[in-house]
Amino acid sequence: MPAQTIDGLALSRQIRAEVAERAAALAARGVTPGLAVILVGDDPASAVYVRNKVKACQEHGVRSVLETYDATLAEAELLKRIDSLNRDPAIHGILVQMPLPRHINPQRVIEAIDTTKDVDGYSVRSAGELVAGLPGLRPCTPWGCMKLIESTGVPLKGKHAVVIGRSNTVGKPMALMLLQANATVTVCHSATADIGHHTRQADIVVAAVGRRNVLTADMVKPGAVIIDVGINRDEHGKLCGDVDYAGVQGVAGWITPVPGGVGPMTITMLLSNTVDAAERTLET
Ligand code: NAP
Repeated sequence: MPAQTIDGLALSRQIRAEVAERAAALAARGVTPGLAVILVGDDPASAVYVRNKVKACQEHGVRSVLETYDATLAEAELLKRIDSLNRDPAIHGILVQMPLPRHINPQRVIEAIDTTKDVDGYSVRSAGELVAGLPGLRPCTPWGCMKLIESTGVPLKGKHAVVIGRSNTVGKPMALMLLQANATVTVCHSATADIGHHTRQADIVVAAVGRRNVLTADMVKPGAVIIDVGINRDEHGKLCGDVDYAGVQGVAGWITPVPGGVGPMTITMLLSNTVDAAERTLET
């Protein structure tokens, strides 16, 4: 029997509807969730990402403030602007679109964002909260993957999860979230000798590499849940993930398609994080 599709578009729609309801409830209490999006320079892909984020905010009751700056903006100026957004009570989330021009140190910029407004969850302090199992804002893509896994109804407790990829933005936080959900976690990377040895024992595999066919049917345990984070192009220029979808869907129990799997969840979790951050201001 072919694997069941984990429909990221449908789950995304459902979570966005919940986000809109929470945003409306906040607005009724006088707090409109606000997200500041900063774009420096004229990278066309970044401009598209930013536009999509702003549009998603507008459609779900989140006020977005888009600030665009010339590529020559000095790092000190950007840090000053973040400092002022940190102190602005109408702004609950701050997102600086990456990559930044080369003369700006991205880590210094990320660390300048107040942790309570770090809706990308990329700062060292947000990472520390995740490591320590403390509440905090989680990186959007792996957080979306957790929601996709939850949507299958397969419990994570006691299961073996393998994450392929160990970037600070996807692989590592993904592994920590799975660990926190009581899975036993293995992390594979470019120096792992035999990835298939690990994935064949896995109940859940998350592939986050950026390379086609990292996971093929012979590497998958029957019935496993497969989450494909990768974004690649095949030889015909068609969008595809890291997983050999056609082969793996004949073995796995659940699988995310590319497109329509992890992709739609990332902006959704950004909206969710912004509303979370706004809700927390009423708790303190
Ligand atoms: P990244 O920073 O380039 O990290 C890639 C990871 O893959 C690294 O840890 C690397 O290992 C590992 N790797 C490279 N070649 C490998 C191989 N042959 N076997 C096993 N592991 C290998 O990428 P990323 O930012 O994590 O993103 C990964 C993919 O997800 C990309 O395709 C990206 O476009 C996509 N992505 C999608 C979304 C979405 O919303 N759908 C969001 C974010 C990212 P080393 O550490 O040893 O170098």
